[in-house]
Amino acid sequence: MKVKVRPGDTLWLYSRLFRIPLPLLEDANKHADPDRLPVGEEIHIPGFIPEEHAIQKGDTYWEIARRLNISPGALALLNPEHHPDHLPEGGRIRLPKRVVRPIVTDPGQYDFARLQKDLRRIEEVYPFISVETVGSSVLARPLLEIRTGRGERTIHFNAAFHANEWITVPVLMRMFNEFLLALTNGNPLCGIFVLPLYENNVLSIVPMVNPDGVDLVINGPPEKVREQVVRLNGGSTDFSGWKANIRGVDLNDQFPANWKIEKEKRAQCPGPRDYPGEAPLTEPEASSMGRLTRERDFARVFALHTQGKEFYWGYEGLEPPESEALAKEFARVSGYKSVRYVDSHAGYKDWFVQEFRRPGFTFELGSGVNPLPICQFPEMVEEMIGVFLSALHQ
Ligand SMILES: [Zn+2]
Repeated sequence: MKVKVRPGDTLWLYSRLFRIPLPLLEDANKHADPDRLPVGEEIHIPGFIPEEHAIQKGDTYWEIARRLNISPGALALLNPEHHPDHLPEGGRIRLPKRVVRPIVTDPGQYDFARLQKDLRRIEEVYPFISVETVGSSVLARPLLEIRTGRGERTIHFNAAFHANEWITVPVLMRMFNEFLLALTNGNPLCGIFVLPLYENNVLSIVPMVNPDGVDLVINGPPEKVREQVVRLNGGSTDFSGWKANIRGVDLNDQFPANWKIEKEKRAQCPGPRDYPGEAPLTEPEASSMGRLTRERDFARVFALHTQGKEFYWGYEGLEPPESEALAKEFARVSGYKSVRYVDSHAGYKDWFVQEFRRPGFTFELGSGVNPLPICQFPEMVEEMIGVFLSALHQ
């Protein structure tokens, strides 16, 4: 929601009027000098949407403001044409409506278009976040990264390296959405006040690493590559077992961490799963993730997969001692099984641990046969939200 600056207004005043943390207002209005807001300029108020209200008999700013959990002054700011003591019955006023419900509510068939739709809405309501294109898929879909927070260290989460594990996308988006709601409304999330997490971290999220693959599993192959993709799929048009990118390369087998060993063990030609490619980082999705990881200097990374209700955190003994302490905490809050080593190489987490000697985690959400049924969505969010918060908290 936007408001127009009056003489003497400051972000600090808006922070009090709307009961919204000042850092969020500052970050949502980076263009504005907080001490000298130009009169008439539009300022974003995050976490609110405007709503028209027909004035009822007996309505007062005081009563309406109490109901909306704002200060009466916020109503005066939005309705300069009205005198606060005299609201004409039947007239109309603008109300700043606090957003208290999640935007990410419909996790089914969560393809790239749906992700974009939710992201646009989230950007609109929470303009202190940024969404950037940090690469592109084989079929030229943008790889999107969300960033928010103002801390020194950057904590990274990603989802859907694997196409038929796309349920991880709405899970990650919903956790992020809950975080935003708790931030703007000042509510604790799982007993934790999240504003300090916002101030102490930058959160980086790549919600869909493999958009071509996800759309293939959900919507079927696009016409221009239909023939090749069906051939790679052994002639079948059932893509529910497809993990790879659209060229049949497994993106989580593409990283330069003992890639050659993995290459020998794995599939020898492109297909729905387990083909590591002709060399590391040949695929645009994987190389973009590698580049982004270097550029952003991530302190910790979390890659969300399905399934197994367990997580992996070691690689060749290169993981720092901190990883073990974090793993213990994550096992406690999620109920998932903590596994140090698995017999696998060339994954994103493997490479991150090897290259940076920092904590990296692969989480396997839910249980069953991929793609997991959407009814597991609420349970996955519940299991993972503690991990999400303690990743930022510890
Ligand atoms: Zn996976």
